[in-house]
Amino acid sequence: TTTTKRKHSHSDSQAHKRVAAQVADHYNARPDVGVEKRKESSIYHLKSFNNWLKSVLISRYARHGFNVLDIGVGKGGDLLKWSKARIGNFVGCDIASVSVEQARGRYQSMRKPPFTAQFHALDCYSEPISNVVSADQVFDMVSMQFCLHYSFETETKARMMLHNVSSQLRPGGIFIGTIPDAYWIVKKLKSGPSDLLEIGNSIYSIRFERRDAFEKFGAKYWFHLEDAIDDCPEYLVHMPTFQKLADEYGLELVYNKKFHQVYEEASKEPELKDLLYRMNVIQDNGHLSEDEWEAANIYLAFVFRKKENK
Ligand code: SAM
Repeated sequence: TTTTKRKHSHSDSQAHKRVAAQVADHYNARPDVGVEKRKESSIYHLKSFNNWLKSVLISRYARHGFNVLDIGVGKGGDLLKWSKARIGNFVGCDIASVSVEQARGRYQSMRKPPFTAQFHALDCYSEPISNVVSADQVFDMVSMQFCLHYSFETETKARMMLHNVSSQLRPGGIFIGTIPDAYWIVKKLKSGPSDLLEIGNSIYSIRFERRDAFEKFGAKYWFHLEDAIDDCPEYLVHMPTFQKLADEYGLELVYNKKFHQVYEEASKEPELKDLLYRMNVIQDNGHLSEDEWEAANIYLAFVFRKKENK
């Protein structure tokens, strides 16, 4: 009946709000540790590698004077990378309000920031960006680093995410991001015994509750990454579904590569190779362990371009 349906959708939406709150609480609770402390992390080189990879993407696509929207900005760890790209304006949004404050603080403590910036706490998968950003702002670039997969909890959320990416992005504008590679994860799971529900190594684990069918949305797993993510619900991003949906929002895929591939290519360029040393990915006394190197390859990097006629 309509009443039960209504009741049902009410409790569904309550459940989705709870998941969003769980994710926000998780990130809010992570301390913002300084550079020295970060060096002691068991995954220091992996974190440095992920930062290097984001620098590769940003330096390749950002241009002088760009207006940039960062969805899932977190604690603002990419601010320096944007500064090196000499962008003109930066808008950072995240559901975790404590992180947003830390990002704002990090921006304010930058010496002579070469760009202007605004920060907003917003559930970008449930609310339109126009709630916090004026509708006449046009972005040249949108970045979503290690956060888009949370929107694949439901189609409604994934659509709101894409609406927010695309609605104020100029024609020809660029959308970059990093997500776990669902294809790789499922392949690895399926290559094990038929009752296997978990994959991983000494620093990460990905645990499913079932493995018979993976839905296009809501294909939940629990992710643990040593010294970074405690056991957070995440969702597989089925790439063909993502691509098809993105197309509806005028976005076409122009780049899609696993982190290992990005490394193979980019480390051939002298400047980016040099950056591997400057960002401490490779040091005299160490580099990524075998387990860190495997964990790095969970992820892929993508680039979409907004079609000119949309
Ligand atoms: N982009 C940052 C980086 O690369 O360091 C942070 C990545 S962190 C792994 C994932 C971020 O996604 C968290 O800061 C989290 O709060 C944010 N996030 C998750 N769900 C969100 C939502 N519905 N709206 C906005 N941000 C969200």
